[in-house]
Amino acid sequence: MIVRDQERSEPEPPGPGESLDPAVPRRDALIRRDQLDAMRGSVLAAIPVNMLLGLASLLVAYHSGHATAGAVWFAASTSVNLLRITLCRIPCLGLALTADMTPSLAAHAGRSIDRRLRAFTAAAFLSGVVWACQPLLCEGYTSAQALFYLAITCGVTAGAVTHGTAYARIPLSFIVMPLLSVAVCLVLTGDFDRNCLAACVILYFLALTHTAFRSEAVFRDASRLKNEAHALARSRAEAHASASALVDEMRWRATHDDLTGLLNRAGLLQATEHRLHTGTLSLLMLDLDGFKFVNDVYGHKAGDRVLVEVARRLSGALPENSLAARLGGDEFAVLYDPATSGVPHSVMAATLITTVAQPFEGFDAGRLGVSIGVHDGPEPGLTEMLSCADEALYAAKATGRNRFRVFDHGLRERLQMRRDLERDLSQALVENAPKVWFQPIYAADGRILVGLEALVRWEHPRLGWIAPPDLIAAAGMAGLTESLFRYILERVTAMLEILHRRGLQGVRVAMNVSPREMAQVPVDEIVIERLTLLGLPPTMLEIEITEETALDIGVVQSKLQALSRAGIRVALDDFGIGYSSLSSLRQLKADRIKIDRSFVTGLGSSDDKRGLVLAVLGLGRLLGLDVVAEGVESAEDLHILQAMGCPFLQGYHLGRPMPVEALEATLLTTRIAAA
Ligand code: C2E
Ligand code: MG
Ligand code: MG
Repeated sequence: MIVRDQERSEPEPPGPGESLDPAVPRRDALIRRDQLDAMRGSVLAAIPVNMLLGLASLLVAYHSGHATAGAVWFAASTSVNLLRITLCRIPCLGLALTADMTPSLAAHAGRSIDRRLRAFTAAAFLSGVVWACQPLLCEGYTSAQALFYLAITCGVTAGAVTHGTAYARIPLSFIVMPLLSVAVCLVLTGDFDRNCLAACVILYFLALTHTAFRSEAVFRDASRLKNEAHALARSRAEAHASASALVDEMRWRATHDDLTGLLNRAGLLQATEHRLHTGTLSLLMLDLDGFKFVNDVYGHKAGDRVLVEVARRLSGALPENSLAARLGGDEFAVLYDPATSGVPHSVMAATLITTVAQPFEGFDAGRLGVSIGVHDGPEPGLTEMLSCADEALYAAKATGRNRFRVFDHGLRERLQMRRDLERDLSQALVENAPKVWFQPIYAADGRILVGLEALVRWEHPRLGWIAPPDLIAAAGMAGLTESLFRYILERVTAMLEILHRRGLQGVRVAMNVSPREMAQVPVDEIVIERLTLLGLPPTMLEIEITEETALDIGVVQSKLQALSRAGIRVALDDFGIGYSSLSSLRQLKADRIKIDRSFVTGLGSSDDKRGLVLAVLGLGRLLGLDVVAEGVESAEDLHILQAMGCPFLQGYHLGRPMPVEALEATLLTTRIAAA
């Protein structure tokens, strides 16, 4: 039984190749700390009894004529007891040992515990040696007082073992010498009875030894369980604390923007929950101007620095109790109360524009700015306020940089229309309501048909004809960008099939692809797959993109290359109204330029337009690119363009966009370019 207990509390040292649990030495040291602590208590409790018994021995010695020997003995006993009391009183670093101490401190504490236990053991042994001298007071247990001294020795040894349950070596060190001296004296002076008594004393010693070890094993087990319970409680407390910290962190992350530390959209929603319905809040939605340029030219790290700086400037410029959030990308929102802050929304918007327009370290002054959309007035809920401010922001952006626009009646109607379109578009696609019309493109003489441009048309049952850009935008908002693209492609390829069947391969059909479609839809895969499926020559198709597409060049370049490799041509639409025409031409690898109609219509009355068209024609010749003039609205436009040598022409004067049925008739009556 004892053996099993000991095995459980004191694991065998690991053999070669076995894993060494680093917690084991510390666990053992904690148990020894408890043993030392308990021993200090029990020694302090036992010493008064020890002293009383010593005093009784002195009295008996005095009475029996051994006064001097008794006094010397008592003095020795008292000295050792004082030494033991001192050992108990001296502070011990080991008693401060805890489960979470650093390994080096724990090892240090463990060594100090061991030293103190050894000192206690040695002191106990010394005390035992003094008690072993009792035979000197009773002539080796032969005087009349022998019974007294025998009883005292038995009592003091039994008491030592009963008190010292925590650490067997201390009581055993104490009892071994007195009992040995009793046994030796009995044997030396003895007859049969005394020899028997000596044997009993040895048995008594063995029994006490057994009890001492057993008590220690029980104590160690209890200590181990106590320490394990503490460790469990502590680790549960730690787990609880770290779980709470994690929850706090997650809550912060869920409601804040990592980069700037401002609220994010969800955080803004949460923070405004209790603040709306006061009827006076203004929401400003901000979008940086020129941020993409910073990101593209200076890299994302610089972009991040700008965002952090903008967040700092915004926070510094806002009145008290305002909320600032980063909604994503370079979009921020500010919510504040113009009434309590005394700052009208127009003043606030102007202040924020000035604040952001201050030069940023490391960038050209004036490169960065901000456009702002403002929602002011009755609060229909934050989400609705955000949409309204967004609509106003969109309108502000359209008018240039560093502008703000307040959401008004006109914008409300526009927003409503966009929502109606978003809502109705998917059903319209199912019902084949949007149509694709085709506008002819002619060679320089204005009579030979060389191409068609596919233009989407949708007559909404309530809103009437929808401008194609609005339809494309609505598809984007409704998540129908790819569906609409496939829908239009189907109709474009149907037209290609008609032309192909009739042997009119010389007529190329151009399809418009918006920057959003180009970025979000696998345009190349879809187009190539469809042409292959229908067995149509890729050279009959042309993709019209705008210069804005070049803004996302990283995303679209591979798609454009794939289209080009497949033999599909790329035209750069609306040339001249973008930002960086020449670099776009190089990046987009266009085969054709379409001069925007704003430079073509009314050519006769504007020298500037004529100059620009001439320049583009020269550029086309230089780079070996086809040039198409869009928006030929009059005979005059036509003649001027012909005189300038413009190779391809498109416009209402030559032919309006028309449905397939009308086009069929045109095909019959028009001269068609040879393949
Ligand atoms: P765009 O690609 O520049 O198309 C030419 C626009 O000019 C068409 O307007 C056409 O009807 C118009 N137009 C042609 N000749 C003349 C003219 O002589 N005078 C005037 N005033 N206008 C003329 P539409 O159909 O309203 O399309 C506007 C824009 O919408 C297109 O500009 C194109 O960017 C986009 N779009 C049209 N259809 C689609 C489409 O199927 N997909 C995509 N992604 N965008 C399309
Ligand atoms: Mg076009
Ligand atoms: Mg155009």
